[in-house]
Parts: sequence; C-alpha cells; structure tokens
Amino acid sequence: MTSENIQIILPLLQKQEVELYVKREDLLHPFISGNKFRKLTYNLQEAKKQKKEYLLTFGGAYSNHILATAAAGKEFGFKTVGVIRGEELEIDLQKTFSKNATLKKASEFGMEFLFVSRSEYNQKKEITFLDKLQIKYPNSYLVPEGGTNSLAIKGCEEILTTNDTRFTHICCAMGTGGTVTGLINSSLKHQNILVFPSLKGNWVADEINSLKPNKKNWKVILDYHFGGYGKVSDELITFINQFKKQTSIPLDPIYTGKMMFGLLDMVQQTQFKKGSKILAIHTGGLQGIEGMNVLLKQKNKEIIQ
Ligand SMILES: *Cc1c(COP(=O)(O)O)cnc(C)c1O
Repeated sequence: MTSENIQIILPLLQKQEVELYVKREDLLHPFISGNKFRKLTYNLQEAKKQKKEYLLTFGGAYSNHILATAAAGKEFGFKTVGVIRGEELEIDLQKTFSKNATLKKASEFGMEFLFVSRSEYNQKKEITFLDKLQIKYPNSYLVPEGGTNSLAIKGCEEILTTNDTRFTHICCAMGTGGTVTGLINSSLKHQNILVFPSLKGNWVADEINSLKPNKKNWKVILDYHFGGYGKVSDELITFINQFKKQTSIPLDPIYTGKMMFGLLDMVQQTQFKKGSKILAIHTGGLQGIEGMNVLLKQKNKEIIQ
C-alpha cells in the first residue's frame, strides 16, 4: 500500500529554491489514520495468527491510536478494550461522549473502556498491572501505548518506497518514536530524517535510540513542540488554517501542524540548502481536530477550519 506525494507550491519555497512534497498517509483510511494504520497492520496479522479475541491497548482521551485500534478491531474482527487515562471520564459517560468525539466514535466501533487514574495508567508497562488486565480480558493481544512495538516499526518501514529515493530530507512528527524509527530503517544513507517531537523534553533522542534504528542519519528538532503534548498556540492554529487555504491540505494540531510549521520556519531561516528536496510525512491525526475545537471554543479562540 502506497500513498501519493503531493507537491506544495508556496512563494517561500520558490524563493528559497527548495522543493516540498507531502506524503498523504492521512488518506489511507478514514479512522485508522496514517501511521496508526502502518503500526497496526502486522500486529493485526499476529493477533489473528495467535487467535486472540481482544485487542487491548492504552491511550489518552483524545488518542488517535485509541480510535485507530477501535476501528481496526471492528474491521478485522476483534473485540477491543481501551485503557484510558482519567477515571473522572467515567462518572458521566454520556457527557464525556458529548464532549469527546474520539471516545464517542471508539465506543461506536464497539470498544470497551477501562478508565484508570493517572497513577494506575503510569503502570501500563508493569507486569503486575498487565497480568491483572489479562485476567480481566483473557485471550487479549496487547498493543502498547501509541502502538509502538517491533511489528509497528516493521509496518512503518513500508511508508517510504523506491519512488522516494530522490528526496534529500524526510520530515516526520514524533510521539513514541515508532514511526520515525521505521522511516530511518528504510531510508537511504544520504537522506536526512528530521524528527519533530510534539512532546517537550530532551529525552526524545534516547527514546528513538532505545528502538534501535539501523542508521544515524536522523536529527531531532526540539524547537516546535509549542509547550508540549496537546498544547497549541494562536499562531499554530492560524498557521494550520492558512496552510489549508493555500494548499487544500488539512493538518492536525497535535502532530502534523507542528511539524509543518517547524519545517517551513526552518526553510524561512535558510536551514535547507538550495536544491533540497523535502518529503514531509502526513501521518494523519485529523480526527483530533474536533476535540481540539471544543477546547478552543471554550476559550473563545480561533478554531481549526
Ligand atoms: C501517533 C501519531 C504520531 C506519532 O507517531 P509515533 O510512532 O508514536 O512517534 C505522529 N502523527 C500522528 C498524526 C499520530 O497520530
């Protein structure tokens, strides 16, 4: 499965003499968005092979991965359980659904939820907690938070194809690092992988190293997290709306919007040599716009169009 590369035409790019293309992974599936589709593909095959009944995974209340897992379960014949951070969400579930399109849609796909406190959620990698979950949901296939494991990385190695060898730079947003690790593994040595974390912290490079990428042709760009995961600024929202007007390509506020903002800012600052050919991966995440707009409206801010 390959997705199309679309060239972006903007005065800034012409002026700096760099080419920019966007790989539209966001169009792979309406709900199993972009990189989450890649990350789930081989895990679904493995779960089938092991004859598992449930897919069980973890996420925050607006998680793209939670919705992707719910949709994949429905489509490929698994029951799904989402362990969700935030026990307060369970108090009035109808109210939660009315404010949170992610959980509402996941529930419509048949996902069962286990709402847990933040401290319990932090045990998501601990054996005793996982054993408890296995007792509650026997015969379940565990997918880690964000979907990152070795099979996910294998799936993300298929994002780049032989058509992409002419690019000098490949840009991608990062959460857990699985996607960029797949990109690094299947890139060519002369290509530069630029990683744009949407989380704040200097540990992101360690996180990628722990996933053992097979090359060192990558660099983390730390300047465009906008205050951290889930945080946005007026400037970012304005940028996302303007970019869509100019290119007809929607961006999400958590990942791809920050990456594209950062990447164009770097072009502006002439950080790319003339003649650079940049490929930006659109990892999807557009389902998150609705939830973000609810929060922006509450604050009387500009919303994402
Ligand atoms: C989950 C997600 C990412 C981050 O992927 P990781 O493999 O966790 O680094 C990037 N972009 C979008 C749209 C996502 O949903």
